[in-house]
Amino acid sequence: MHNNRLLSMGARTAESAHGMIEKTEKRADSAVRAPMLSIGEELRRRLAWIGAWVTIIAAAVQLAFSQSSQTKSPTKTESGQPGIELRGRIVCLAEEMHRLYEADLPTRHEHIYGLKTNDGKFVTLLRNKHSEALFADKRLHEKELILKGRLFPQTQIFEAITFRSVRNGVIHELFYHCGVCEIYTFAPGICECCQDPMELVERPQR
Ligand SMILES: [Zn+2]
Ligand SMILES: [Zn+2]
Repeated sequence: MHNNRLLSMGARTAESAHGMIEKTEKRADSAVRAPMLSIGEELRRRLAWIGAWVTIIAAAVQLAFSQSSQTKSPTKTESGQPGIELRGRIVCLAEEMHRLYEADLPTRHEHIYGLKTNDGKFVTLLRNKHSEALFADKRLHEKELILKGRLFPQTQIFEAITFRSVRNGVIHELFYHCGVCEIYTFAPGICECCQDPMELVERPQR
């Protein structure tokens, strides 16, 4: 649509330029002929040149538009389904695989934390600013959790964006709080204001 308008604008510019040239030439006929003709000729060349450029630019714009419409932005399913809820407990995947399938487990190993869902599936968790508490705070490993986030396509890798707990069948919000500074966070640690340790709060969801 936009391109067509641009193209027709280009055509109109060329037309009016053509009209101008004809008028110039007609006036040139009635006046002193020789010098005016060469100016008219020069003008005609320049306008033709501009007209050509307008056409080229319009074509380039049209090409760019058609390409941008062909380039698909990743859909929700391609970048991972958001808003997925998983319910289960944090476990060490290495220990679970050792227990279930006798996978080799070094005496001293780094835990690989993941979620064992209530229906027995194992999911690897990405560790980032949203999910830090699930890795760093061992108290959360004792709780039944509801993680909300996205599962990446063709993987069992989950990015948890939020986490809540289930206690006596009631869903609880989990967060960290500094009572001195009234600061709330979703990651454990010390309060960045007063340097006191942040307190874990588990509160029935409102
Ligand atoms: Zn472990
Ligand atoms: Zn504080």
